[in-house]
Amino acid sequence: MCYSAIELSLQSTNKPFWNPLMKVIDHIRQSNDSAVSFEILPPLKGKTISSIYDHLDPLMEFKPAFINVTYHRSETMFKKKSDGTFEKVEVRKRPGTVGICAAIMNHYQVDAVPHLICGGFGKRETEDALIDLHFLGVDNVLVLRGDAPKNEAAFTPEPGGNQYALDLLKQVVNLNQGIYLEEDIKNGSKTNFCIGVAGYPEKHFESPNLATDLSFLKAKVDAGAEYVTTQMFFDNQKFFDFVKACRENGIEVPIIPGLKPITNKKQLSLLPKVFHVDIPADLSNAVTKCKTDEDVEQIGTEWLLQQSRELKKAGVPVLHYYTLGKPKVIWNVVKELV
Ligand code: FAD
Repeated sequence: MCYSAIELSLQSTNKPFWNPLMKVIDHIRQSNDSAVSFEILPPLKGKTISSIYDHLDPLMEFKPAFINVTYHRSETMFKKKSDGTFEKVEVRKRPGTVGICAAIMNHYQVDAVPHLICGGFGKRETEDALIDLHFLGVDNVLVLRGDAPKNEAAFTPEPGGNQYALDLLKQVVNLNQGIYLEEDIKNGSKTNFCIGVAGYPEKHFESPNLATDLSFLKAKVDAGAEYVTTQMFFDNQKFFDFVKACRENGIEVPIIPGLKPITNKKQLSLLPKVFHVDIPADLSNAVTKCKTDEDVEQIGTEWLLQQSRELKKAGVPVLHYYTLGKPKVIWNVVKELV
């Protein structure tokens, strides 16, 4: 079909070129068993969308309910100029979240969930991104604050940007009610986003304690978050305790466990440092004894499978896998579950 024919068919239906799909919350409501979902990173700038398809193709046999695509702020870098001095440049190494979501929905007819972050964005840019998503028929978002840039000690919002995930969430809720930043837009078209937020079974690292962290999580839910997706964890008991604490604090929405395999020895120190999560002694001891990365991958696969089986048995709504460069490991785990 030539471009103008595609354009004509779009105009005639006035709909995106994939079938209308579902919101995460509807997937959860309609599923009798734990659904499966995957999370991917946009490829490094310069790569094509086929690197995403190569990554996801084998996993599609498990019929994921949805696929999350992470968002990455730009980083400040210093590039050497020909005269020997350095120039400060802002580089976004992994652009394309919105486009990748549209491509995934079109290519696989499966829902995509873009992550949206406060860091590095003003509210107007965020509104434009939300409008793009709305036009593309992407009705799901996971709203996050984002972290401080690598060279900064603490998170600071852009001038005119959102400070907390809660503020970004309120912006999306406003747009769902047809309230745009320009107050003179009357009867603005309402968006229809299902909004998810992040939760931390081992508490967010900036929070003084779990109770305080939960009070902020509750504020996000009270403001309109329909579900929570958690940070990775390697000890299911931490997840079960977190869900119990959420319920005791009036957080009633579905809580989706985020799961990641250990695949190399470096992760034993890297994951606690970057993600502020504990690695149980049984797992770290087994990994330490491994001689090769293949051995570590085997241990990581078995551990993740045990975690997944127990969580599925406990009736979690979705098993959400951070596939991040390791689709084969995730494939090996999920195939044992179906
Ligand atoms: P918030 O909910 O805003 O909380 C941040 C901190 O502030 C917490 O300590 C909280 O307790 C505290 N807090 C919240 N509200 C208030 C308030 N009103 N006053 C004082 N303190 C408050 N990062 C990315 O850059 N891109 C991604 O795609 C991405 N995806 C993620 C997906 C998941 C499932 C998870 C768990 C994390 C993801 N992250 C991502 C990382 C995330 O951006 C960081 O963990 C970030 O530090 C916190 O984000 P948040 O949305 O939880 O922030």
